[in-house]
Amino acid sequence: MTEQQLREQMVTLARSMFERGYATGGAGNLSLKLPNGHFLATPTGSSFGRLDADRLSVVDIDGNHISGDRPSKEVAFHLAIYRNNSACNAIVHLHSTYLTALSCLQGLDTDNAIKPFTPYFVMRIGKLPVIPYLRPGDPRIAEELAKRAADYRAFLLANHGPVVTGSNLTDAVDNAEELEETAKLALMLDGKSIRYLSEEEITDLQGRGK
Ligand SMILES: [Zn+2]
Repeated sequence: MTEQQLREQMVTLARSMFERGYATGGAGNLSLKLPNGHFLATPTGSSFGRLDADRLSVVDIDGNHISGDRPSKEVAFHLAIYRNNSACNAIVHLHSTYLTALSCLQGLDTDNAIKPFTPYFVMRIGKLPVIPYLRPGDPRIAEELAKRAADYRAFLLANHGPVVTGSNLTDAVDNAEELEETAKLALMLDGKSIRYLSEEEITDLQGRGK
């Protein structure tokens, strides 16, 4: 895709997520790798419902602002993931309702916040490690993500929300939506007797793609 097509795709996918309630107000941010090696990102404080393709932020791998409006400060932690996972070409960060609710629970398994009960969670996400709570904008969020970036496709920032990667922006958005729906189901099923997938069933799904 050309840079112009990628810009238009970011606007379209963001608006779609906004209209379906995955993003509200100015919360959340998106980024993707451009053909020239720079990164396209949502500007600071921008609403997913009202992005302008011509004003999206462009930054380099070190976070230097190249063009467009000023990027979200959270783009720093996107770049930490790109630097440590060359297979990642796009990132979605949301403050979506169910994943954020999950991120506020005590006693989460920090290696995997959602014990698998549906095959698509296993195939699309695998595991969801929890990053300990840090103030938004704290540079240690990037450090924590960098440590885990090569091994996981998604992360849950405690008391904050999800960070989800993909091979392109459509893939990252699909992964984020699958993850949000999985969190919704996990909370709906809380306190009920769940038939979790067995280790054998999980192993059988791993590496099958999506
Ligand atoms: Zn955030």
